[in-house]
Amino acid sequence: MSINRVCVFCGSRPGNRPEYTLAAHALAEEMLKRGIGLVYGGASVGIMGELADAIVAAGGEAIGVIPQSLVEREIAHPGLSELKIVSSMHERKYVMAELADGFIALPGGLGTLDELFEALTWAQLGFHAKPCALVNTSGYYDHLSAFLDHAAAEKFVKGNHREMLYIEAQPARILELFAEHPVAGSL
Ligand code: AMP
Repeated sequence: MSINRVCVFCGSRPGNRPEYTLAAHALAEEMLKRGIGLVYGGASVGIMGELADAIVAAGGEAIGVIPQSLVEREIAHPGLSELKIVSSMHERKYVMAELADGFIALPGGLGTLDELFEALTWAQLGFHAKPCALVNTSGYYDHLSAFLDHAAAEKFVKGNHREMLYIEAQPARILELFAEHPVAGSL
């Protein structure tokens, strides 16, 4: 399918290894190379800020979606192509999902996991057929990947639903998989 924009979920903190920041830069570079725009949470801090800075500095499209209540707390990014201010976290996730053709999570915390799993459960329910992926930088998501295999083995997650989540170390590989992903889907 043709991917014009991806929604990237990622940490509002930088984490404790330079590799996490480097992964954000690598993803930005691969998106820019392919002319893929960014949809994300609109903050200027942590991995979120690193990713948006890299896209904006190269003249790429970066759309932020942030709830009014978080505008100051997450320090909204001042240089985006567009900053959409919405009224709730739920609206944020819905608007981000509508704008994007696929979902990628870089390393991040609870918010990142919540957002990625919501997109994945919407795919599981057939609300959309957009691809979902984890960037497994320095094995950050190894335990989560093993847990999802366990959940499938224990029959709480269907095998084909487990396979709906691509887990790859290299952002370039994820964008290749997205380009080969069979069906586009609306939300
Ligand atoms: P984190 O991965 O926890 O650093 O959070 C990354 C992003 O997820 C930030 O933009 C947070 O605003 C957002 N976030 C945090 N908690 C939640 C939540 N419960 N639901 C949706 N988004 C969240």
